[in-house]
Amino acid sequence: ALLWKYVKLSEHAGLLEEELLLTRQSQELSQMHTDRICRFDYLCYSTEAEEFVFFHSNSSVMLPNLGPRRFQPALLDLSSVEDHNTQYFNFLELPAAALKFMPKPVFVPDVALILNRFNPDNLMHVFHDDLLPIFYTMGQYSDLDEEARLVFMEGWSEGPHFQLYRLLSSKQPLLKEQLRNFGKLLCFTKSYVGLSKMTTWYQYGFVQPQGPKANILVSGNEIRQFAAFLAEKLNVTAEGQPEEGDGYIVVFSRSLNRLILNEAELILALVQEYQMRVVTVSLEEQSIADIIRTISRASMLVSMHGAQLVTSLFLPRGAAVVELFPYGVNPEHYAPYRTLASLPGMDLQYVAWRNTMEENSVAFPERTWDQGGIAHLEKEEQERIVKSKEVPRHLCCRNPEWLFRIYQDTKVDIASLMDTLRQGLTSKPGPKKSRPASTVHPGRVREPKCQTSVQAANEAKLTVSWQIPWNLKYLKVREVKYEVWIQEQGENTYMPYILPHQNYTFSENIKPFTTYLVWVRCIFNKTLLGPFADVLMCRT
Ligand code: UDP
Repeated sequence: ALLWKYVKLSEHAGLLEEELLLTRQSQELSQMHTDRICRFDYLCYSTEAEEFVFFHSNSSVMLPNLGPRRFQPALLDLSSVEDHNTQYFNFLELPAAALKFMPKPVFVPDVALILNRFNPDNLMHVFHDDLLPIFYTMGQYSDLDEEARLVFMEGWSEGPHFQLYRLLSSKQPLLKEQLRNFGKLLCFTKSYVGLSKMTTWYQYGFVQPQGPKANILVSGNEIRQFAAFLAEKLNVTAEGQPEEGDGYIVVFSRSLNRLILNEAELILALVQEYQMRVVTVSLEEQSIADIIRTISRASMLVSMHGAQLVTSLFLPRGAAVVELFPYGVNPEHYAPYRTLASLPGMDLQYVAWRNTMEENSVAFPERTWDQGGIAHLEKEEQERIVKSKEVPRHLCCRNPEWLFRIYQDTKVDIASLMDTLRQGLTSKPGPKKSRPASTVHPGRVREPKCQTSVQAANEAKLTVSWQIPWNLKYLKVREVKYEVWIQEQGENTYMPYILPHQNYTFSENIKPFTTYLVWVRCIFNKTLLGPFADVLMCRT
């Protein structure tokens, strides 16, 4: 669970009107800082002041020079989590002359990538917020190579998954707390600050209830390339591709909380249903490398909802993810792993099962609030929560009803789970040899033309023809179709048509002595859309 606090600026009591205005402006500008990564020569850090410092000389350059806008609300986000007010980056400015009065700077010679890890205790956050964004940010800048130095400024200690971060570069990452060991003033010879958000697919619910990001820019291809990189670094490359038919099922169990109470019964049922071996793994018992090795050859991964499910990114294509939800938790509302499995090109099947039998659920009202306890709440509120059948949508991260429900243990009703699996898994789960689906888009159709004729006072024809896109002759495409849009000039609606050939004569709805605007584009395999050719003006 997340323990971060998001305070909307406008919620501060006693804001002056002028300040309110600024707040509003800053929110309008927020588009900008969230997309920014900055590169610095000689960015310094004062370990005494705990501030980054930029020394201006006559020859220093700062682009873009935002002026005071760089404080509205910040220059950039240090983590990949968008616009979170605990993750803002800025630097102080000083004239270079001030160096005379400061401790002698210690230079960091490596090219550095400076960032915040968001929540290094939680495996989902480690992969989604940190490892993937670091990997692809490094990929964007050629000098952030194997030798680059990662610098983590969030202020946490190494955390349980530090070894994963160490795989991204040959140099030991630096933690904020270690910087003071080097001196009072550190200067990074060359550094990049901030992380790319291009690979993230989920927002955790700080401003609106959690869900898939509005604009997902990553596909399974990038996720799988990252997974292959990590697997190789961990020395867990599967020897040979897993054979169809020799698959096995992995049950990823949690041993501290959110337990499956009848794990043995579940395993037996899975063995019987699929005639496959079942192995269990848990973060408490295996190393992450061993877990990844096991998962990377599995046919199916079964687990309670939770961060450990992010390891499904190591499953082979064609495998199935089965996510179990405790009583009162609606799977539709908590979909980080469903979204991951459903990314185009991940080629994973996904099924959610939900416990609907309250008697199969064990809750822990007496535990601490962060483990789902509710004893600290007013009696009435406790009763309401206990009676409620489903957690209503909520914001992150301390909603007691959510924590109460999600930290329940569950006795899985086997019959109901098997029903869900039979309905939800369309094909037999297992590693597929199939190649990843092509993502090559059509080019523009070439030489689009129209011809018209008038048959009678209320009868006309419009013939549209075109040549295939240039790239088509080099491709094997299963299905090539064309889409034609026809719009009467001056109208704001259009008629769309899907056509199999390179020409067509329209006569329905075509009026004489009328000008039509016609757009044509090519479509591969139903979903890969090409660009429209230049619009045709056709007068009947
Ligand atoms: N965790 C675990 N076993 C447990 C409970 C938690 O391995 O019995 C791991 C979990 O996978 C995650 C971290 O501990 O990496 C924090 O778990 P938490 O329940 O806070 O977060 P969630 O899994 O709900 O995201």
